[in-house]
Amino acid sequence: MTSIRETLGLRPVINCSGTMTSLGASIVVPEAVAAISAILTQWTEMGDLQRAASKIIARLTGAEAGCITASCSAGITLTIAGLMTGKDLGLIERLPDTTGLRTEVVIQTGHIVNYGAPIDQSIRLAGAKMVAFGQSTEAKPHQLAGAISENTVAALYVVSHHCVEYGQLPLDVFCEIAHARGVPVIVDAASEYDLRKFLAAGADIVLYSGHKFLGGPTSGIIAGKKDFVAAAYLQNYGIGRGFKVGKEGVAGAMAALEAWEVRDHDAVRARERAALDLWLATLADRPGIAAKLSADPTGNPLDRLRIDFEPAKAGITAWDFVAQMARGERPVVVRDHEAENGYVFLDPCNLHPGEDQIVAQRLAVVLDAAQELGADFITPYSDTVRRRAESLTNWPD
Ligand SMILES: *Cc1c(COP(=O)(O)O)cnc(C)c1O
Repeated sequence: MTSIRETLGLRPVINCSGTMTSLGASIVVPEAVAAISAILTQWTEMGDLQRAASKIIARLTGAEAGCITASCSAGITLTIAGLMTGKDLGLIERLPDTTGLRTEVVIQTGHIVNYGAPIDQSIRLAGAKMVAFGQSTEAKPHQLAGAISENTVAALYVVSHHCVEYGQLPLDVFCEIAHARGVPVIVDAASEYDLRKFLAAGADIVLYSGHKFLGGPTSGIIAGKKDFVAAAYLQNYGIGRGFKVGKEGVAGAMAALEAWEVRDHDAVRARERAALDLWLATLADRPGIAAKLSADPTGNPLDRLRIDFEPAKAGITAWDFVAQMARGERPVVVRDHEAENGYVFLDPCNLHPGEDQIVAQRLAVVLDAAQELGADFITPYSDTVRRRAESLTNWPD
């Protein structure tokens, strides 16, 4: 049978990089696929569908209420908009004009990430203003306290491997200081597995992606205090219209949440471990290559394979390895955001059965070629930076 990717002229990419929007966001779990296809042809009262979603979100997260959005990024914008306007439909229709509203969102500098787009833009889209405190590698309690003013509408806390990994305020301290000044705390937990701990630690609203670990369709989840969730939901009658979620996104995210609840997480972990072991064996005793398991930096229960390159011996740099793996008819995309430091990761969480074997074969082919050809696979990192910058703006040609 011809696959949809062939029909559309797309390469059958294998994803060892993590859940990436640029690769299609997720391979949707069967429960969500069934729900999506069942609802697509039916008229649906969206308020009631979101009400049902709220119940599921509340049950799984411990929140008072919840709703589904187009994405976690949309969730940031809508939540902040809701905190500015409350449930006042006049104010909701007036955004992004924020005259007379509290508009400042405080965030520690080490949390100002780019997850494919700048997080500060998701704040500004609501008409709000980002107020950063601290320096990239250090944020102190007095700096958060000092950043809060009578114009502060929210404090945003980001949980991500993109954040600076040390020197940041822990969530409980962050909540204590914000709450003492009457400022609600939003946690961006887009790719975190734990659906309860951030609310339990004091957050008023927590945001997840529906299409990351949950394996839902492209969507986002807002969970938290009922009034805040309701105000965010009401933005659908204002700025939220431009990034509305469809019934398929809502029903798919609901099904993905319920599938997550009953998933055999140990079996999934064992499958991921088998892939990692296979790749470890493939990479053993190769000159200039050191591979080892690496725990997830934000504490999600998963490991990745970290591969360190010694180019003079391996015949290839980390960034040239990334490029070689991604070439050809069966591209393998690896996790490369730290490649400039001489290492990459293989993420085993998004593979179809059998793809771990194809990845192992490809590792051997690329590294064997590097041993033979050497110099061809050792280029300056700056070339990679320039090439990527160009290729982005070359779309569609
Ligand atoms: C992925 C991600 C987002 C964006 O999530 P989408 O659902 O794709 O919009 C926001 N914040 C963090 C920390 C992320 O990792």
